[in-house]
Amino acid sequence: MSDCIFCKIANGEIPTELVYQDDLVAAFKDANPLTPVHILVVPKKHYENVVDGVPAEVLAAMVHAIDVVTKETGIDKTGFRCITNTGDDAGQSVHHFHIHVMGGRKLDPNAGEG
Ligand code: 5GP
Ligand code: ZN
Repeated sequence: MSDCIFCKIANGEIPTELVYQDDLVAAFKDANPLTPVHILVVPKKHYENVVDGVPAEVLAAMVHAIDVVTKETGIDKTGFRCITNTGDDAGQSVHHFHIHVMGGRKLDPNAGEG
């Protein structure tokens, strides 16, 4: 999508430090972090949300990216939360599928934090 901010970030049109990338996915720090570690993992291709026909290989690549970035930041040891907001009731503000990877402190078990 030509006017999608995450398409532009994931494909290098908007210079952003990527903490991980491969052919299918990119990961970068959230601009407004809610936790000490707050990384967004996105497909390079545009999908609206998690149930927008995302191919299994893309989902697998996203999980691999989560594996890499949590190990790099050390939150694989301390724990982390993955969230994907979908639609209005969940407060999705960027309509390009993304998974929030959040950690680095004790997270509220009753809060979405993302
Ligand atoms: P959502 O509310 O859609 O689940 O999450 C969107 C997230 O994207 C928010 O946490 C917001 O801070 C982040 N975000 C929005 N625009 C940008 C941007 O241009 N760069 C980065 N790095 N993060 C962004
Ligand atoms: Zn997009």
